Amino acid sequence: MQLSDFPQTEPSSRQVKVSLVGNPNSGKSTLFNALTGLHQKIANFPGVTVEKKTGYAKIYNSSTGKPTSLEITDLPGTYSLYPKSPDERIPFEVLCDPGDENHPDLVILIADGTNLKRSLFLASQVIDLKIPAVLALNMMDLVKEQGIDIKLDELERRLGVRIVPVNARKGIGLEELKQAVISELHVPENDIFETGPLAPPLLKKIRSILEMRSDYAALQIAHHRDAISGFHIPDQQKKEIEEALATHEFDSIKIQSFETLERYKVIHEILQICMVKAVDDKPSLSAKIDKLMIHRFWGYVIFLGILFLIFQAIFTIAAFPMDFIDQTFTGLTEAARNALPKGVLNDLLVNGVLAGIGGIVIFIPQIAMLFMFIAILEDSGYMARVSFLMDKLMRKFGLNGRSVIPLISGVACAVPAIMATRTIGSWKERLITIMITPLMSCSARLPVYTLLIALVVPSKLIWGVFNLQGIVMMSLYLIGFLAALGAALSMKWFVKAKERSYFIMEIPVYRMPRWSNIVYSIYEKVRIFLFDAGKIIIAISIILWFLSSRGPGQHFNEITQQIDQLSTEQNIDQEALNKLEAQRLEFSYAGHLGHLLEPAIRPLGFDWKIGIALVTSFAAREVFVGTMSTIYSVGKDDGESKTVRDKMQAEINPETGQPRYTPAVGWSLMIFYAFAMQCMSTLAVVKRETGGWKWPIMQFFFMSALAYCSSLIIFQLMK
Ligand code: GDP
Repeated sequence: MQLSDFPQTEPSSRQVKVSLVGNPNSGKSTLFNALTGLHQKIANFPGVTVEKKTGYAKIYNSSTGKPTSLEITDLPGTYSLYPKSPDERIPFEVLCDPGDENHPDLVILIADGTNLKRSLFLASQVIDLKIPAVLALNMMDLVKEQGIDIKLDELERRLGVRIVPVNARKGIGLEELKQAVISELHVPENDIFETGPLAPPLLKKIRSILEMRSDYAALQIAHHRDAISGFHIPDQQKKEIEEALATHEFDSIKIQSFETLERYKVIHEILQICMVKAVDDKPSLSAKIDKLMIHRFWGYVIFLGILFLIFQAIFTIAAFPMDFIDQTFTGLTEAARNALPKGVLNDLLVNGVLAGIGGIVIFIPQIAMLFMFIAILEDSGYMARVSFLMDKLMRKFGLNGRSVIPLISGVACAVPAIMATRTIGSWKERLITIMITPLMSCSARLPVYTLLIALVVPSKLIWGVFNLQGIVMMSLYLIGFLAALGAALSMKWFVKAKERSYFIMEIPVYRMPRWSNIVYSIYEKVRIFLFDAGKIIIAISIILWFLSSRGPGQHFNEITQQIDQLSTEQNIDQEALNKLEAQRLEFSYAGHLGHLLEPAIRPLGFDWKIGIALVTSFAAREVFVGTMSTIYSVGKDDGESKTVRDKMQAEINPETGQPRYTPAVGWSLMIFYAFAMQCMSTLAVVKRETGGWKWPIMQFFFMSALAYCSSLIIFQLMK
């Protein structure tokens, strides 16, 4: 078939649907980006929460100049058409349901040339579906480097599809690939693995019902009878298929394992002829590095060491830009306060909006640095080693090696981390990972920790090098991690498992991280933090400004009047004014709310001001800082702007005459924030991923109880 078979008078009127199919790590995303550039959109596949990336490309035929528009869908990476996780179900559904809206006119198969055996397993399955296909043989630079010789002509002949060698990373071979895609829609003719004889009458029947050209596609339908009800085909056909399946014998498991073994045999034979590997006695550089990196003892030491360095770096280096932002905002606040006429607008802008924005922006340096390190670890291939290293340990806690990536990502944000659990095949292990991930210290806790550590932990060097504040920060992360493991262990006993899971993970070779990827990842994460979390933070800052500058009853109005009067006097009695301001705050709506909470949180060492912050930060933890800024900046006009930390530090507890924020209060608060489930977005994602309110509600109550009890114990012991 030629592409000219597609009507293409008006390129926009008909887009050729192309699916990208390949193993995880085969370079699929790289190729997708190279083919579509910025013309991408991201949505979800219908009915599930698996991300669907679609891109567009217009390709001009090199000889006729005629354009063809492509709509390219990046299907989730998979090792075979037999789905083991919700992600892997997508390629199966898209390729095997002829009525699926994403069902392609053409498939670009991506094979990792250094991992041909496994790549060809999936590729040969797709080829046997008899959908027009082109095979992009990727990683050709590494193939060459490793001295592998692939006989392309012979391989092309045996697979029955056009093969184009590429290096997706450098963009080499892309033009040839594009031309192959638009010029030659090769429908493979022969089966690579002959399926027909496995269940002859049944497959024939299904083929005739659906008018299929492939035995293997019919076999897939037989294997996945539970999926047929969701297929986009007429009900009559569904009924006929059900009938055929009911009347024919079909042992799915036996046939599937037979196919797997036989298919590997065929691929082995093909590779014996088509691939020559240079005999190389020397272990590769990756293998040499791995001797240490996944060493039984040193592997863990190195991992801990890397984590330690990351947190030290975040603390020491990020301090410079943070100071800068801090000063800028202090200046800005001052300028705004003086430039605008005195009144409600000035007050709202300075104490509501600017205070809120300042509270968010200041944390960008730390978030950016954390994500930079995570992206480097991921891109260099080290993260895969961490998963491998941790698998055995993780199993003891009812998790598996793949849980490590969500857990580590949870250090950044539980929302994407919980989404990353989709690669975990076993439901039980996935559920446990989802439940415990929010205990990992996410970046939203960073602002809270930073503020509290600065408040109660002195900044001094231990052994002349390590910053004590950095060490406390790391221990908070460790506490979160240990709590997560403990919670996993207890869940392991009461969640019933339906299936066993095995850890199969590819260990890629080490690669130089791509800086563009890292920059993009940082940009993305900061953007999400600024705009998604930021929206809530600013909204709540404004609500809070209202709550704390307005109040019910006559008494509040009297105080306000007194303040107004006092501040117009020639020689302002600053002390009296401050006292009045404090009173006004106490009688505001926010003060009432905080007072209402106080009896419940007093045993934890918290006062009504913290009470207010606890209420508002139920939406998002980082709101704590914004709330504190607002509470402490509203009701003062002492001429010089101080940071919220200075103000909290200067506060005296009238009952004791000591500073309000003693180490006992600081630690109790930190522990509370380490454990409490104060994040609406996380709860929403958990609901989506577990399909109901049961698990998020349990998670909420469990974490709140843990937070309350731990803070109670800490405060009572330390005070
Ligand atoms: P995906 O999981 O299939 O989407 O894979 P990615 O596109 O994320 O690629 C996995 C890794 O392989 C990345 O580090 C890429 O930079 C790298 N990669 C992709 N194509 C090539 C290539 O042709 N040569 C080399 N050396 N690396 C590549």
